[in-house]
Amino acid sequence: MQQPLRIAVVGSGPAGMYATAALAESGRATVDVIDRLPAPFGLVRYGVAPDHFSIRSVRDTLDRIWDQPGVRFLGNVHVGVDVHVHELQELYDAVILTYGSSSDRHMGVPGEDLRGCVGATDFVAWYCGHPDADRAFFETWLPSVKHAAVVGLGNVAVDVARVLAKTPDELRTTDMPAHVRATLASASITDIHIVGRRGPAQATFTTKELKELGELEETGVLVDRVGLEEETGWSTGDRAVARNLEVIRGWMEREAPQGKTLHFHFMARPLEIRGNGAAEALVVERTRFDAGGQISGTGELFEIPAEFIVRSIGYRGVGLPGVPFDEASGTVVHAEGRVTHGLYTAGWVKRGPSGIIGTNKKDAIATVHQLFADADAGFIEGTAEGGFEALLRERGVVPVTTAGWRAIDRAERELGEEFGIERITISDRSTMLAIAEQA
Ligand code: NAP
Repeated sequence: MQQPLRIAVVGSGPAGMYATAALAESGRATVDVIDRLPAPFGLVRYGVAPDHFSIRSVRDTLDRIWDQPGVRFLGNVHVGVDVHVHELQELYDAVILTYGSSSDRHMGVPGEDLRGCVGATDFVAWYCGHPDADRAFFETWLPSVKHAAVVGLGNVAVDVARVLAKTPDELRTTDMPAHVRATLASASITDIHIVGRRGPAQATFTTKELKELGELEETGVLVDRVGLEEETGWSTGDRAVARNLEVIRGWMEREAPQGKTLHFHFMARPLEIRGNGAAEALVVERTRFDAGGQISGTGELFEIPAEFIVRSIGYRGVGLPGVPFDEASGTVVHAEGRVTHGLYTAGWVKRGPSGIIGTNKKDAIATVHQLFADADAGFIEGTAEGGFEALLRERGVVPVTTAGWRAIDRAERELGEEFGIERITISDRSTMLAIAEQA
């Protein structure tokens, strides 16, 4: 009987885990899932907002994939640093790259590098308890912030604004680490501005997420009407857009809030971040649609006071040595998931940062079909001898195994129990590694 295919999956986010499930369920492959972090699940753990409990519960489904025969987790292994893709290709019959989009796009405006201006990836990673987040920055910066601005009209911008707006009580049952809760609680933010270069009809946030902004305990929504008279999309036939517009119209009819306020500025594009060594204000220009449906600046400028500015204008994938990569789109070059025979890709690093978690399931399964088609055609065979762990030992890299992850998981649940909640994320890498090693 032929030996099962040995597959390495690089990245344990939803795309990697769904690919792993499809491979394992086929009975034709064993899978090592490699991740640079000591804990699996990528953006399900370090991206989905901690107060979105039902979306976050996807990790329970992903966690059951470790129980499939032949599936192993090898965390704390950085592909591209500890080991290269070509080395994995020698040790495994095939490699699937599912390492997502770890970076973010830049606005390209003056002042973007000022202290206080961050990418959504950094802020989201911090509040989710990512081991590499810049804790010191957020802990020193946020307590003195009164005005915050979020650039972008996607679901990530909505997440960021909501987390900044929520009271400690509204965040009480989340799994945010204690230091994150304490820092957010110590901030006395009075105004949060969401700034989008186009109108409500072009925004990419979804209605359910948008609506939540109008249901916050202590924060009211105020929509800046300037620029909206010319909004061409109000009468759109798109049902999803119509639902968003209904929510926004409802807010426009409400009285202006008295306390903490979430301002929406549509048709306003960032031009500059002003400040003396640190962000003090976001300068924006009103935009309008031209006859071709493109936006152009009107020349009318205004300033939004903001000491904390989060650009939330899209995530971005980064390349790995030796793997063909398209810098413009931030994705691996592939044809329907196949990079070459024996090297494949799925998820955001394949198709760019869009779609919901479930989108990755279909995407990963399509890639696994390509892999099996190549196996059926004889391009890949179950001949690899393995030896990855020996290589790691040689290089002094200690991987977190499935048992190690289970121990971290248990420790997080026990920590949560002390506070009467499901779990608290452990964010410190050395603590995670110590717990895993004991297992
Ligand atoms: P996104 O939906 O692509 O939104 C990016 C936003 O950035 C758009 O409003 C875009 O405006 C704006 N933008 C891009 N370049 C800009 C620039 N130079 N200046 C100003 N604005 C600019 O991306 P995302 O919010 O990062 O979300 C990524 C994916 O994750 C999406 O598929 C999202 O639905 C998903 N997600 C889902 C949830 C959820 O289901 N609850 C939560 C979080 C994320 P233009 O349209 O004008 O380019």
